[in-house]
Amino acid sequence: MFKESTFAIVGCGIGGATVAALLQKYGYRVTVYEQAVSFVPAGTGIHITPNAMKVLRQLGVEPALHATGFQPPAFVSRAWDTGEVLFDFPLQTMQQQYAGSYLTIHRGNFHSILIAAVTPGTIHYNKRLKEAVQEEDGVTLFFEDGTKVQADYVIGADGIYSAIRKTMADQAAPAFTGQAAFRAIIPAAKLRSAPLDGLTKWWGHDRSLISYFLSGDQSLFYFAAGVPAATWEGRAHREATREELLDSFAGFHPAVQDILLASEYPTLWPLFERPAVNKWYQQRIVLLGDACHPMMPHMAQGAVMAIEDAAVLLRCLEDAGNSSWQQVVERYATTRKERIETVQLQSAENKWLKAPMDPGWVFSYDALLAPLA
Ligand code: FAD
Repeated sequence: MFKESTFAIVGCGIGGATVAALLQKYGYRVTVYEQAVSFVPAGTGIHITPNAMKVLRQLGVEPALHATGFQPPAFVSRAWDTGEVLFDFPLQTMQQQYAGSYLTIHRGNFHSILIAAVTPGTIHYNKRLKEAVQEEDGVTLFFEDGTKVQADYVIGADGIYSAIRKTMADQAAPAFTGQAAFRAIIPAAKLRSAPLDGLTKWWGHDRSLISYFLSGDQSLFYFAAGVPAATWEGRAHREATREELLDSFAGFHPAVQDILLASEYPTLWPLFERPAVNKWYQQRIVLLGDACHPMMPHMAQGAVMAIEDAAVLLRCLEDAGNSSWQQVVERYATTRKERIETVQLQSAENKWLKAPMDPGWVFSYDALLAPLA
């Protein structure tokens, strides 16, 4: 019955693009509103883990992701100073073990592949949502350019600073966590020595650095390096210097120094956090991804959880029968809540794959088949 309805998706990041493409594939009427004028490839890296790959396969984008991304042989955890291997978790058997491969990829390339899976003309750019007003028979979205549109239902996928979430009476701002992350992409040809592994996490006492190739041809290398930061002004990231980086990681293994010395345009990103909303929906609006449950990046699962959300929301709609919208979104939220809370907690601990452990509970999950609440 929901196939007759109109859905407005606010925000076209990884979660918004995934839910738009999935709903369209199953015949739903979708329009997307995105504040960006256009997308410029953001210079960061991202992991696509098997649990995300199972959903992405439905969109037919798996070959493009494989053609672009890098399949690391293993996730290698090393001691910050000696380089001693703390855990060497093989990733090339992921397909057999968890029915999906594990890729690292340039985030901009990943996003472009997702956007290409959405029907052309669906995404309306330069539409920054100001307010959403719920009425008995629909929702009116008001944009900062003075325009407005109506839809039967709204999916809020507008990220950690979600305007839609504010509409749902959650006015609390995200809190700075006291942590920040240096990030840089490096042409691999500039590296002073070949990386020890395709994907390594270097574990220090109060800081860590993860580095990996972003492309299958191994031409692009990337690192994200987490450090404590007492305060942060505003919420934007800033340019950093190589000297700051070298100071922050003084004493780290020579292989780390080689990576830092090769970085030309490092940036420093504040890490913000906020608890998941208590209520994932209100009347005709439902949330997914960071709008609903932002998390620390230490498990590389923030975008992946948005992708899982999209699949579960689709299934709740597909399985609706004569259920009301309220029943559909209640079922979606109930199905997702426990898993999200567990991942949020474990991500904040920053111990993922540091020592031998079984990550199967994350990677084996299939959002397209897992039982619905
Ligand atoms: P977003 O990606 O933030 O997208 C929100 C979209 O909404 C944007 O396009 C934005 O322009 C738009 N928007 C915002 N406000 C409005 C408005 N008012 N009107 C209209 N549009 C609006 N996750 C992983 O899965 N793997 C990783 O390896 C990983 N690494 C990370 C490393 C770091 C250092 C950080 C900080 C995060 C990392 N994450 C990772 C987390 C991941 O980036 C987020 O969880 C993910 O981007 C959330 O996707 P989203 O679609 O919910 O939100």
